[in-house]
Amino acid sequence: MDIIKAFEETNTREPKKRDYFYVTNLGSCPRQVIYNMEGREAEPYTVGELSRFQSGTFTQRNWEYAWNRKGILLAKEFYIPALWGKPFFHGRVDDLLYNLSFNEEFLLNCNVKGDAKFLKSIKPTDIILLEFKTARSNAFSYPNKIAKLSHKLQTWAYQIHLEEFFPSLTIKEHAFLFYVDRDGTNKPILHILERPDKDLLRIEATKLIQAYRNFKEKDILPPALSRNLKKVKIGGLSKVKLVSNWKCNYCKYRRICELPEYKSKDNVIGTVKGKSFVPNKNYDEFKMKDFINDDEIKSLIQKEEK
Ligand code: SF4
Repeated sequence: MDIIKAFEETNTREPKKRDYFYVTNLGSCPRQVIYNMEGREAEPYTVGELSRFQSGTFTQRNWEYAWNRKGILLAKEFYIPALWGKPFFHGRVDDLLYNLSFNEEFLLNCNVKGDAKFLKSIKPTDIILLEFKTARSNAFSYPNKIAKLSHKLQTWAYQIHLEEFFPSLTIKEHAFLFYVDRDGTNKPILHILERPDKDLLRIEATKLIQAYRNFKEKDILPPALSRNLKKVKIGGLSKVKLVSNWKCNYCKYRRICELPEYKSKDNVIGTVKGKSFVPNKNYDEFKMKDFINDDEIKSLIQKEEK
């Protein structure tokens, strides 16, 4: 797909309402999920974002092509219409691998994280679920942090589903999260996932279902993600800055949420002078929007005194 087509398909289609979740919604901001389900208008994707999506898809297809030629790709894009036996969650497993052995070339060329001993136990008849992710090269500088909770939840949800509803498949107890550098400068990271945490999965799924019910039945939106108050030194003075959650920085609904701009100078809300706080003009505005309250400021100043 060329970039113009990607733009047309992504940015010019009418937002649609839906009444089910995607498995990839697990671990996301519940408010963001509801905005999306309700078809609220999101910020358009930029050309840079669209080309990153495209290169991510291309990278994945490239790897799948190589796995297929080697005879280790059993299935890809495996559609799952219902999770936990209910049509609330829809999803698509990226890849199912088989015929693998410890000496498989692509495994040997990865930076392996997690329980590497597991690789030695793999037999060719075992089926391994793999979720494919691409990331910017700087993410590879922190290999132990690359596997986000949302990636784990998504993969576990698929894994459990395949075990429960396709008992004829022998899915190994550990799935792979496979991270490929979009810029091609680092070798891939193969994160061997822990066994599924079924309790955590249910908690996260229930959180989303409950948030959606509250919205539909009582018109209550989930709260905005928590943001922090940060002390910064500017011109030798101790200032207080409002910093929104990092996830909000990448969210296409941040305008609807009216959150403070990430890294903006306008987020400095006042100056600490000894035991007192001198608010800036924007302090009341942020307070009215419920982004800050006086008690938080008090406790911040007390911390400063200690
Ligand atoms: S801007 Fe933040 S709080 Fe608002 S929907 Fe997006 S992620 Fe959630």
